[in-house]
Amino acid sequence: MCTSKAARITILGSVRIDLHTHSTASDGTDAPGRVVADAAAAGLDVVALTDHDTTSGWGEAEESALTHGIALVRGAEISARAQHVSVHLLAYLHDPSHPDLLAETERTRAARLTRARRMVELLGEEYALTWDDVLAQTEPGTTIGRPHIADALVTAGYVSDRSAAFATILHPGTPFYVPHYAPDAVAAVRAVRAAGGVPVFAHPGADGRGRVVADEVVEELTDAGLAGLEVHHRDHSDAQRTRLDDLARTLGLFVTGSSDYHGAGKPNRLGENTTAPPVLEIIEETGLLDVIRP
Ligand code: AMP
Ligand code: FE
Ligand code: FE
Ligand code: ZN
Repeated sequence: MCTSKAARITILGSVRIDLHTHSTASDGTDAPGRVVADAAAAGLDVVALTDHDTTSGWGEAEESALTHGIALVRGAEISARAQHVSVHLLAYLHDPSHPDLLAETERTRAARLTRARRMVELLGEEYALTWDDVLAQTEPGTTIGRPHIADALVTAGYVSDRSAAFATILHPGTPFYVPHYAPDAVAAVRAVRAAGGVPVFAHPGADGRGRVVADEVVEELTDAGLAGLEVHHRDHSDAQRTRLDDLARTLGLFVTGSSDYHGAGKPNRLGENTTAPPVLEIIEETGLLDVIRP
């Protein structure tokens, strides 16, 4: 079938791209294949799977993308730190076995496990909560996090949902909170680049989660190879989006928009924020791996 140039441009213009989702490989509540299937059902044309510090969901996501006729961007969300502030770095189309990046994510995942066990130990002094209760909320090999502890607290009836757990029992201000190792953000940006990936700063202005980094840090990360800012995200106000958009323009970074979908774990809905097709083109041209297309 021959499509006219005008028709193709219209089709291109309506391409819907969501570059940030989580599955049970980390703290999402749906299996990787299900996330991708639901993305297709939601009318998205392209979805990225970006689990915290792991790529273990990629295989299942790829199969599902081919079955359900949606393009898949293989990615991850790397935990990092800058000046004691937690920084999340989206990595797209990188070599998942690159030793530098893999060493960092494995170290973080191990530290997350020790930290989660310690938090449950502390919580156990006040709540009837055991490590087995938390494990019951996870798939084997997941990147564990506070959301899984939150799910155990919900199941035990202490809180109504994850958000309530984060606002109370699991808040960093409580005696139950324990931090965990994460690489320096500059080193993380370099490791993503070394692995052939495209690094994008996830929700850089999300001050509801805690402190955010100063513009100087974003500049430093840009010097280290940062490629973009996730400006369009539900944790950013309109004023923050305008400010971050200006910062991106000043630093020569591209801008993305994404849902940060976690299944039933958060109110975020697939496709609620999207990324412009020319930005995906840059990511695909820059990244080592191809976008998987049905
Ligand atoms: P952690 O990395 O273990 O400290 O937990 C932080 C993770 O919890 C983030 O990656 C979010 O996905 C998730 N999270 C943060 N705040 C909330 C919330 N209010 N409700 C549900 N999930 C949250
Ligand atoms: Fe998360
Ligand atoms: Fe994040
Ligand atoms: Zn995320």
